Amino acid sequence: MIVLSGGTGTPKLLQGLRLLIPDEKITVIVNTAEDITVSGNLVTPDLDTVLYLFSGQLDDAKWWGIKNDTFHTYHALKKLGISEKLMIGDTDRAAHIFRSELMGKGASLTEATLQLSMRLGIKARILPMCDEKVDTMINTLQGLVHFQDFWVGARGEPEVMGLHIEGIEGAKPSEEVLEALSSEDNVIIGPSNPITSIGPILAVKGMRKILAQKKVIAVSPIIGDSPVSGPAGKLMAAKGFPVSSAGVAECYGDILDAMVIDQRDTANERDSPVRTVRCDTLMTSIEKSKALAGCVLGLFGTF
Ligand code: GDP
Repeated sequence: MIVLSGGTGTPKLLQGLRLLIPDEKITVIVNTAEDITVSGNLVTPDLDTVLYLFSGQLDDAKWWGIKNDTFHTYHALKKLGISEKLMIGDTDRAAHIFRSELMGKGASLTEATLQLSMRLGIKARILPMCDEKVDTMINTLQGLVHFQDFWVGARGEPEVMGLHIEGIEGAKPSEEVLEALSSEDNVIIGPSNPITSIGPILAVKGMRKILAQKKVIAVSPIIGDSPVSGPAGKLMAAKGFPVSSAGVAECYGDILDAMVIDQRDTANERDSPVRTVRCDTLMTSIEKSKALAGCVLGLFGTF
């Protein structure tokens, strides 16, 4: 099974999926357009969340960072006058240093991620969407800012006029991503932000063409007219999409075979461009994540 993921909604679904299929059978292709260098180290927030989920270290109360991590370095730097853009825990930072050291010696992000996975004892295949540097840039009234400055720095408050993914024209799937896609027919697009998490993955060169040949089922991150969390609504509207599960289906376009929407969603299925199935998509517990993953897996059997 291949899963396209950001760093919050889809990892919740992965938490349930892992209870139904072995990690060895899961490949996760992860967004990297929110990556940022902090104090000299490359931080890959979405990749890290997925890595820590599979290594059993994730702080799944926050959906970022490591459970019971300490923040001594972060606070020590603050005392020295360095205010880091992201709050980075001490153990979390070790992964960033490990990755950046390898990449400094010439490893690609994919190679560094596979090495890190191996050292953390992870059996799933976790792959960055590409090795090229890409950055989601948000056009706000205050000017053009990196996604992290918008979302973490300014708590997503500035009005958004538009956004683009810098460097995406040069981004191509790695050999590892191509290999994974060539040996698997079923793809889940998890309930992640369609614009800033899934959008960049689909914009990697050739990705849509490959996915058009697969069975692709998406889970909507939008229930009714708002996201469960995060800035997806604001960013979808800025891109001209309706903030609804039909709008999410519109973002993904013709690669999609079916869309799972929430059972509470009052949307009319006829407004959706694809086959729509209703489940409880609000993953407030591991049991609920497992039930949703089961619903999605069951759907693949109906094609
Ligand atoms: P990011 O990388 O941290 O922005 O995280 P993602 O893009 O992976 O996930 C953010 C999206 O997950 C938001 O649009 C939320 O609406 C969605 N989300 C979070 N939790 C849930 C949930 O329990 N159910 C559903 N359906 N969507 C969720």
